[in-house]
Amino acid sequence: MKTGKEYIDSIKAMNFELYIDGGKITDIYNHPQIRPAVDAVAETYDFAFRPELQNQFLTKSHLTGETISRFQHVPQSTDDLIRKVGITRFANRQLGCCSFRCAQNIFAPLLHTTGKIDKDKGTRYHENAVNWIKRMQKEDLLGCPAITDPKGDRRIQACKQPDRDMYLRVVDKNKDGIVLRGAKLCQTGAILSHEKLVLPCTTHRAGDEDYTVVCAVPGNAPGIIHISVRQPQDDRRKEGAEIDLGNIKYGVHECIVIFNDVFVPWERVFMCGEVEYLDEFNNMFGACHRPTTGGCKSGWADVLIAATELMAANNGLRNASHVKDKLADMIAVSETMFSCGIAAAARGIELPGSGYLPDPVLANNAKYYISKAVYELIRLAEDITGGILSCCPGEKELKNPEIARYLERFVKGVDDAPAEHRIRIVRLIENISWGLGSILHSATHGGGSGQACKMLLYEFSQMMPYRKEALQSASKLCGIVK
Ligand SMILES: Cc1cc2nc3c(=O)[nH]c(=O)nc-3n(C[C@H](O)[C@H](O)[C@H](O)COP(=O)(O)OP(=O)(O)OC[C@H]3O[C@@H](n4cnc5c(N)ncnc54)[C@H](O)[C@@H]3O)c2cc1C
Repeated sequence: MKTGKEYIDSIKAMNFELYIDGGKITDIYNHPQIRPAVDAVAETYDFAFRPELQNQFLTKSHLTGETISRFQHVPQSTDDLIRKVGITRFANRQLGCCSFRCAQNIFAPLLHTTGKIDKDKGTRYHENAVNWIKRMQKEDLLGCPAITDPKGDRRIQACKQPDRDMYLRVVDKNKDGIVLRGAKLCQTGAILSHEKLVLPCTTHRAGDEDYTVVCAVPGNAPGIIHISVRQPQDDRRKEGAEIDLGNIKYGVHECIVIFNDVFVPWERVFMCGEVEYLDEFNNMFGACHRPTTGGCKSGWADVLIAATELMAANNGLRNASHVKDKLADMIAVSETMFSCGIAAAARGIELPGSGYLPDPVLANNAKYYISKAVYELIRLAEDITGGILSCCPGEKELKNPEIARYLERFVKGVDDAPAEHRIRIVRLIENISWGLGSILHSATHGGGSGQACKMLLYEFSQMMPYRKEALQSASKLCGIVK
């Protein structure tokens, strides 16, 4: 396994092509917009080396029998699924931001579906997937799920879009491999990841075979270009701010990834054209990924609640009954998000020979609930924090001797804490609520939009025997059926 430092060295060696602010970046990992995100990932690598955490963060690979990071494991039981939710909560609580370790959520569906296609069609996708996962485990590599296509006009099928590249597609095939063209948007940590795991973002239909491609691509493969997106704290980072960042240690990085005719050898291809398997595959991936949100958002919420408590104390109101009442409401939201993830994991089902899949109804319910609940969480944090959350002076003002003395007096809360502490707390709450890669945006659309999860929640719940049972019961209870 890699230490944090080894991870940083390995990713530095990859020489990605990256543009920020319109210019090409050469010293990527010392760039102020990248460094906090690399440090966040490195911290997640170091968890595995902390003796008190090893019970949670280490496990045995069912493929090789070797000790591996739990972030690389194919879940082999409901206990594994539950632990993933738990370690994600822990990680986000330590970082106060995304922990970037979700690629693993695709492993079990990948093994299951590739096995099925091979059996039906005589392909060799399963062997490819097993070899790739073994390598991810052995070399402890970070993967970025490259899912979200530009999509153009959402009502139009991929193959009928006016621009044929609105969904990533295969433009060429030969005996050695395939060639990919298109783009993936909203790529969290793409510039921090050794591998991109390319997945279709929707269920394609007949005619969309070229768009039905699942494969692994080295993050620095020729033809891949990363274009950084603009985020709220960018200018503050460039100015060398510290207090105004809110989270002074860690951050996230998102970018657009262009696939400019990228060659992928067949050994790295796990699906290519088998459109009829995509519906089940995507739904399984959604079910595997969404319980993690319960751990991820509750870990983030732990930090937000604690910061809000600090703010209440700074205002002299830590013991005011209505503040405790609102903090209890925040805790209830956070623990419900966590419980939803745990419940989906605890009711997991076996994909024979591949791994475990969380309960799809509870998994989609978790993400749908969370996509709405974070707004309540942030409303309560803002309520307790006060107007200073949007009317807070910056650290440059605090450092100007001509005006600092006014701010020291008038931005202060309780007498025994300096104004600077109050500003630091406000900035952390600001960062988590709507800053760089905030809990809000991540919960609303990250891991699939709330609307998509709601639709799947409805669809899967219709298949559950207890829905039929309930219908019979309701009909009997009201006397329609005797
Ligand atoms: C913080 C963050 C991190 C992310 N990280 C990643 C990542 O690492 N990798 C990755 O691949 N993706 C990532 N995403 C992308 C995320 O998965 C998508 O944002 C999400 O799936 C929604 O897709 P979209 O943004 O294209 O929105 P759209 O699909 O355009 O959705 C906008 C609205 O339109 C509706 N809509 C969309 N299509 C239709 C239709 N056909 N008919 C009717 N209504 C429709 C939706 O329900 C929604 O309400 C991330 C997103 C965020 C915000």
